[in-house]
Amino acid sequence: MVAAPFGLALTDMASPEAVAAVLGKVVRPAVIWLHFQDCTGCTESLLQTSHPGFADLILNVISLEYHETLMAGSGLQARQALDEAVKRYAGKFILVVEGSIPTGAQGIYMKTGGRTAMEILNDVGGKAAAIIAIGSCASWGGIPSADPDPTGAVGVADLLPEHSIINIPGCPPNPYTMLGVVLQYATDGTFPETDDQRRPKFAFDRDIHEHCPRRAHFDAGNFVKVYGDAGHREGWCLYEMGCKGPDTHAGCSTRHFNEIPDVWPIGIGAPCIGCTEKAVAFKVPMFQVVQLHTIAAPPTSYAPITTTRGTISPLATGLVGLGVGVLATGGYVASRKFSKKEDDESAPGSKPDNKAGE
Ligand code: SF4
Repeated sequence: MVAAPFGLALTDMASPEAVAAVLGKVVRPAVIWLHFQDCTGCTESLLQTSHPGFADLILNVISLEYHETLMAGSGLQARQALDEAVKRYAGKFILVVEGSIPTGAQGIYMKTGGRTAMEILNDVGGKAAAIIAIGSCASWGGIPSADPDPTGAVGVADLLPEHSIINIPGCPPNPYTMLGVVLQYATDGTFPETDDQRRPKFAFDRDIHEHCPRRAHFDAGNFVKVYGDAGHREGWCLYEMGCKGPDTHAGCSTRHFNEIPDVWPIGIGAPCIGCTEKAVAFKVPMFQVVQLHTIAAPPTSYAPITTTRGTISPLATGLVGLGVGVLATGGYVASRKFSKKEDDESAPGSKPDNKAGE
């Protein structure tokens, strides 16, 4: 069941049997999941998985100790459950953070159980073995940090820069990226290799544009101009509609959502908004065309894919024929000049006559 996401992070594993053997020995890691300024979309996304299903994940793979959306308890009961879990697993649990942390006005924009989000993160995060910032909000601020950013929203790494943190941005992120990271940690206590923004390379090392099903239309210069036009109905490229795919590292074009083929923005005809990129998502206007950094020439400067044939006038044909004749005559005369035999009548370049007795 868990081989698919596991294989994403540990691609060295030779076979499903090898994966199953390793997972059979796994000690379920304790996980505490906190919500700050979020829409719960990351949790919703994770609830849609089936390999493994969410029930399998929390009952057989990890030990979910605290999750405000899923737990039955609330109020004082919930606060006690959190305190007990932090105490029991101090230094050993994985903290998953969903949502950004408001820092404006000493963090007064969000309080739970009498504590600001900043205080909760400092307390719980400080005792975690490692932190997974799930979604763009927890990774760097996400939607709440969009201009004018009234709450001073930041991501986990902005407040705990020295901590062991892995970012899984996306709005929402792909749940299988999360599962791959959790399962690798569960098996050997390590996180996958990350890029300079703490994103796991196995899921973020390529841009959307590289594997986009509409890429052939980009290369051919076929662009949607208006939603609903003939090109849009034919599945042409959405670059001129503001698609951020050429500037966005994520695996959406190959791993779709909700276990349904083509369920991802470009798959249903909407441009990529660059939700996994700190410098793009919720910063660059939705319909603004992005600069092409990794592609040599913008599509407007491509040569046309068909050319119109012209006609050749009789005068031009005559002049070309005259030129060819002059060149041929000149070549023959030159070859005669370099011949060693005065009466040599053989064609230039042919072998000399080799008669017996001569
Ligand atoms: Fe796909 Fe967007 Fe690239 Fe067009 S610009 S090929 S729609 S990623």
